[in-house]
Amino acid sequence: MEKITAVKGMQDIFQPEVRLWQHIEALIRSEMETFAYREIRTPVLEKTELFVRGVGGGTDIVKKEMYTFSDKGDRSVTMRPEGTASVVRAVNEHGLLNAGEPVSKYYYIGPMFRYERPQKGRLRQFHQFGVECFGSDSPFVDAEVIQILYNILTKLKLSDISVKLNSIGCPECRPVFRQNAEKYFGAVKDKLCVECNERINTNPLRIYDCKTPSCKENITGAPVILDHLCEGCSQHFESVKRALAQIGVPFVIDARLVRGLDYYTRTAFEVTSKHLGAQDALGGGGRYDDLVSELGGQKTPAIGFGMGIERVVIAVKTQNIDLGLGSGLRAYVVPLSRNEAEYAFKLLDILRKADISAQMAVSEKKTGVHFKDAEKAGADFAVIIGEDEIKNGTLTVKDLRKRSQQSVSEAELAAYIKNN
Ligand SMILES: [Zn+2]
Ligand SMILES: [Zn+2]
Repeated sequence: MEKITAVKGMQDIFQPEVRLWQHIEALIRSEMETFAYREIRTPVLEKTELFVRGVGGGTDIVKKEMYTFSDKGDRSVTMRPEGTASVVRAVNEHGLLNAGEPVSKYYYIGPMFRYERPQKGRLRQFHQFGVECFGSDSPFVDAEVIQILYNILTKLKLSDISVKLNSIGCPECRPVFRQNAEKYFGAVKDKLCVECNERINTNPLRIYDCKTPSCKENITGAPVILDHLCEGCSQHFESVKRALAQIGVPFVIDARLVRGLDYYTRTAFEVTSKHLGAQDALGGGGRYDDLVSELGGQKTPAIGFGMGIERVVIAVKTQNIDLGLGSGLRAYVVPLSRNEAEYAFKLLDILRKADISAQMAVSEKKTGVHFKDAEKAGADFAVIIGEDEIKNGTLTVKDLRKRSQQSVSEAELAAYIKNN
């Protein structure tokens, strides 16, 4: 029979890479404790309308990339393509939003789905970590959110990351900028790609994102939002920059960093890695003071970001960063014959009760083959049990990393493994 393979663009994650995933997730959870964010778990499946309104009907995501289908009750449902809309829906639905302080702070980790052309760093099922903070437009909140992303990436020892920062203004100051952008791009429209030609009148801000070389060339001379900020936005931006400097988060201003949808306001940021090529963003986000009301809640200022876990994994691997993760397996217990198996099984239990990751060889093999198995399993130690070992009450412990050997008594075995 023909082998069944995974669906295109969806990948299996297994040892040893899954150790890195677990490490990243554990780091996220511990960082979230420190910053007092609480986890929220929302369903993968949502009403399609949520993303049409929450991500934007005019975006590529909604127009081309969603896994949308009718369920058996003939309701249009969609597998979430991103995390923010679901979190906003959930906090609204359950009345979890305070009008002010204490601010409501949530984070999520989970799979997202987009029907895109699969390539490096871009899968149809991918995983995102994201935070959303509701209830304050204070610049300190913006700085805190940016710091979280920066902290996690630096704790993974990524050395080539860059925090790009911009302000995209508010409904008060953006219209003038938008008009100027429309005028500018209208004059060079022959040089822009087909999609950007459409964007000139629908959403000129999205042209700033276009990766087409001819568009990129023409974006260089385009008006920038920073020249158009109103007094309030300008002060807010200055405060965010000062707060970041205070806590030692380095950043560069990228006046062309935009977020294309109307409910995005003020702070926009992105963290990129030089080692990722075209898909160089590890994560990004910004303020969205008008999204909660767009989705039927009361007007609540908010800010958040999303981080692509696959991209972070690629960055860690490309830079050959040693996070000291190992396989996790410490002891491989080897009874040399069937006669020692029961004793070995008891020993295995002693190790596990001491919280030591241990595994036992259960088939009869030549000793040399057992050692190869132990190495293949990634064990740090092989614990050998033969007739003599049982008679003397001492075990032969082979350190597979140092290629050395030692006799250890049964009583001391757990402590020996823990300390070496
Ligand atoms: Zn403004
Ligand atoms: Zn373009």
